[in-house]
Amino acid sequence: MNVEDLKTEKYWIPKYNYIDEVRKDFHMQDRVLIHDVTLREGDQTPGCVFRAEEKIELAKDLDCLGVDSIELFSVVSPEDREALTELARPGVLKHAKVMSLARAKKSDIDTAAKCGVYKISIEGPGNMFTAKYMLGVTDEDQLVKQYTDAIKYARSLGLVVSTGPWDCMKSDLSFLEKVIKSDVEAGATEIVFADTFGFTLPWAVQYMIGKFREWIGPDIRLDAHFHNDYGLATANSLAAVAAGANCIHCAMNGLGERVGNASLPEIALNLALNMGVKTDINLEMLYPLSKKIEAISKVPIDRTQPVIGEGVYVLGSGLPVDTMNKMRPDHCEQYTMPYAPSLVGGPDLKLVYGKGTGTSMVRDLVEKMGYAGTREQISEITAQIKHEAHVMKSLLSEFQVCQLIKNILERDAGGN
Ligand SMILES: [Zn+2]
Repeated sequence: MNVEDLKTEKYWIPKYNYIDEVRKDFHMQDRVLIHDVTLREGDQTPGCVFRAEEKIELAKDLDCLGVDSIELFSVVSPEDREALTELARPGVLKHAKVMSLARAKKSDIDTAAKCGVYKISIEGPGNMFTAKYMLGVTDEDQLVKQYTDAIKYARSLGLVVSTGPWDCMKSDLSFLEKVIKSDVEAGATEIVFADTFGFTLPWAVQYMIGKFREWIGPDIRLDAHFHNDYGLATANSLAAVAAGANCIHCAMNGLGERVGNASLPEIALNLALNMGVKTDINLEMLYPLSKKIEAISKVPIDRTQPVIGEGVYVLGSGLPVDTMNKMRPDHCEQYTMPYAPSLVGGPDLKLVYGKGTGTSMVRDLVEKMGYAGTREQISEITAQIKHEAHVMKSLLSEFQVCQLIKNILERDAGGN
């Protein structure tokens, strides 16, 4: 993005995100792929159940949204196999491609292949501690062989293979180098850096992405996969892009095991505005699709969730509202917000009344109701709204506020 484009009708981005001094060590691609895991790890969110027909419906929506690939896990259930088989049929998805996760086992690979997918992602522990308990394997070379055998078998079936050591940050670099290089030699054409427990810091992510790239060379696709256990998933995804990752794994609404995977809406907005990296995501579909997924998943979107949470679309503090009103004659009131909600398909900004209400908001509402309040009346109404909000410890509904205005103004007008 050119620096001139950083201030538009809908947003104003700091130029410091783009200056050469800040970006001098970036190895960023112009375009980054978005790999969706909503229907695989999102489906593992405690309490969330996506039925086969819902997976098909949502995959089509994600396809329209512009994700490049969609992951399911064929061995999980007959519903997953039904959805995968339908979605893998030519023409069902217009842009995205569907693929399956698989453990490093022939039976998993066969099951995925039978669904007609073009690609599988072979996953397994990336540290010997987990390998011992999960697979009963205590020998490094035996673990590496298990992965390379699986990769070779999948390649023999004509499948494209993506793979990456799970929870790899507990291992030494020498072990990871051996695993990654062996995977590529065995035929994997995509390697995943997976921060499975979300505990790696962004600068360590950049270091690791650099190491992975050194081991695999420039032609193998490098994916990055983050969880949000320490609240780092979005920052880490952006750090991985800055370090040269080709593809980011993420889920709508940040769904996923424990506290979730990296949030697709947050990553898409940041890549587009703050980093100037191209994806095929249609930003205006983010909010509507998030609401649909909220309804189907039954996992509520928290009001503080960036991009799709209700907090983005409501304003209740006196000073910003007053400033916004003063900007209005110059048509620049949108700059009291980080970005216009319509950019991500959200509803218009809604003013709410509560303990933060200022006189400017009240005067506007009084005038809209067809009254002309004196300065004293506006102050009294404002004080009354704040008092009620403190008593109720909540916002007031617009109906409550209108009643309160009527009561005070009609009391003074008629005295009856
Ligand atoms: Zn994961």
